[in-house]
Amino acid sequence: VLEVDDVHKTFGRDEALRGASLTVAAGEVVALTGPSGSGKSTLLHCAVGLLAADSGVVRVLDRDLGTMRDADRSRLRRREVGLVLQFGQLAPELTAAQNVALPLLLERRSRRAAFAAAEQWLERAGVPDVGDALPGELSGGQQQRVAVARALVTQPLLVCADEPTGALDALTGEALLGLLLEVGAETGAGLLLVTHDNRVAARADREVVLRDGRTSAGVVA
Ligand code: ATP
Ligand code: MG
Repeated sequence: VLEVDDVHKTFGRDEALRGASLTVAAGEVVALTGPSGSGKSTLLHCAVGLLAADSGVVRVLDRDLGTMRDADRSRLRRREVGLVLQFGQLAPELTAAQNVALPLLLERRSRRAAFAAAEQWLERAGVPDVGDALPGELSGGQQQRVAVARALVTQPLLVCADEPTGALDALTGEALLGLLLEVGAETGAGLLLVTHDNRVAARADREVVLRDGRTSAGVVA
C-alpha cells in the first residue's frame, strides 16, 4: 500500500532525507525509528504527499504521488490514508465530533451517517463523552484519541501515525496502539508508525531505522 524509493528532501541547506526507502504491505505494521532530527516526520510527510520529495518515488496504493495532480493527491489522501500527526492536527474551532466527522462530510456522506460514525469511533478510541467539546477543552491524551478516531473514520487502507503515543502515559498509549493494531488487523490496512518507543517498535512486524536521512532495516524485534 506504500512504497517509498530513494527519496531526497532538502530544506534550504539542511538535507533532511538523503536516500530514504521503505515499503508497507497491506496488513503489515512497520515501525519507523531513529534519533530526533533524523528525518522521520519529513519521511512520513513525503510518504503521504503533504510534502513533495525533491527526488525519488512515492507510491500510495500503486499511484505515483509525484505525477498526480494536486487535487487527485489530496483526494487520495483523504479517502485512503489515515493520518495521525505529531503536532496540532485537530481544527480548534470544530468540536471533537465535527473533527472526526469532517473527512466523511468532505466525501459528501450525509450528516447523519458522518456523525453516527464519529460517535462510534470516539467511543472505540475511549472518549465516548467528548463529542461536543472543543479540542482546547480536552487534555493532550483526549485530543490524541480524537485524532486517532478521525484517522480511522474513513477506514483507510494506509494508516500513518507520527509518535501516536509520544505524549501519552503508558496506559493511554497502550490503548491507542492496541486500537491501531486491532483496526489494521480487521481492515487489512497497512500501518506506518513513527516512534521513539522501543515497546511500540517491538509490536511491529518490521522496523526501519532512519539515521541522518538514510534508512536501513532495523534489528527484528
Ligand atoms: P523528532 O524525533 O524530533 O520528531 P524527526 O526524526 O521527525 O525528529 P524531522 O522533523 O523530520 O525529524 O526533521 C529532520 C530535519 O529536517 C531536521 O534537521 C529539521 O530541522 C529539518 N526540517 C524538518 N521540517 C522542516 C521544515 N519545514 N523547514 C525546515 N527544516 C525542516
Ligand atoms: Mg518528528
